[in-house]
Amino acid sequence: MTKKELIFLGPPACGKGTQTDKLAQFLNFPHVDTGSLLRAEIKNETPEGKFAKTFIDKGELVPADLVAKIIKNRLLQDDCKNGFILDGYPRSVEQADILEEIKKEINKGTEEDFRAIYFDIDTNILVERIVNRRSCPVCGEIYNLEFKPPKVEGHCDKDGAELTQRKDDTREVAQARFDTYFKETAPLIDYYKSKGVLRTINANGTIDEVWERLLEVIK
Ligand code: AMP
Repeated sequence: MTKKELIFLGPPACGKGTQTDKLAQFLNFPHVDTGSLLRAEIKNETPEGKFAKTFIDKGELVPADLVAKIIKNRLLQDDCKNGFILDGYPRSVEQADILEEIKKEINKGTEEDFRAIYFDIDTNILVERIVNRRSCPVCGEIYNLEFKPPKVEGHCDKDGAELTQRKDDTREVAQARFDTYFKETAPLIDYYKSKGVLRTINANGTIDEVWERLLEVIK
């Protein structure tokens, strides 16, 4: 059986999280999201989490070796053996090269179907999207006060938990995250294009519209 490996590229708050979460359920593959994995390390107050926090709070990338260790441990788990969805990794050319090495080590002869899906979106709207973003600390559901508000103000529709705002979802840190994205991550678009594995989708529009486009490129 061919192992399906889908990685997702796009600026902060382009909708990757929502779509990859939905896709993971649809394909029954794990949704491996480095941002969430790092936030879990912070919440558990591990040494890795404490170290990562200093970068995350400034909107900078956490050093590649630390993220590589976390990603490798996650991809080695049994639920990733038929395929996985990587959201937020790789985020630089250095990380993309590391991912190649990790895959070589893990896959050992397994046939792979690797695609990098790029969410092409008008970035002007994204800072507003970020400052309006809230999430459920219990189930991880993401809301937007403007586009996808919860039914009861401040509470999750699914489990009623009080919604929280990510510490790095302020206007100032969001700007730094965009700068980091354009400098470090955007070069991956050409990197994967030159390898012939890039698929681009128009990520402007509603969640349902983007979902339909996503289904087309993963076939
Ligand atoms: P995200 O949840 O994807 O918006 O990521 C939040 C923050 O976590 C980023 O601004 C980075 O500081 C850090 N982060 C997430 N993924 C990576 C990665 N692949 N490499 C380095 N830092 C990362």
